[in-house]
Amino acid sequence: MPNSKRTLRLLVALQDLDLMIREAHDPEASGEEKNLGFSLKNLETLQTARAKLAEQIGPRWLSLYERISKRYGRAVVPVEGRVCLGCFVTLPTSMAPKKLEDSEIQLCENCGRILYWL
Ligand SMILES: [Zn+2]
Repeated sequence: MPNSKRTLRLLVALQDLDLMIREAHDPEASGEEKNLGFSLKNLETLQTARAKLAEQIGPRWLSLYERISKRYGRAVVPVEGRVCLGCFVTLPTSMAPKKLEDSEIQLCENCGRILYWL
């Protein structure tokens, strides 16, 4: 039985890693050109870490994550005061954080992003 809270934490970590990988791919954005060597080495480390994370997350959530992040850039977004911070739509009361405990990971009904409650 998969632990959805654990999966959610892994997805958030994966998203952070993807952001770092994107920055490492773009040395002009992250610093001077002479740092390129360091960036590439760093990138290798990041990608190894990403592969390990992806393995723990499993194909089901990973493919969903990939699909949403391709579409929006950010696949996992926080919810604050029942508002999805991805699309700023208020979520229905049936999606209360206390119901999250044992349930599946929740997706925003409007934009489809993966939600985590602050
Ligand atoms: Zn949304």
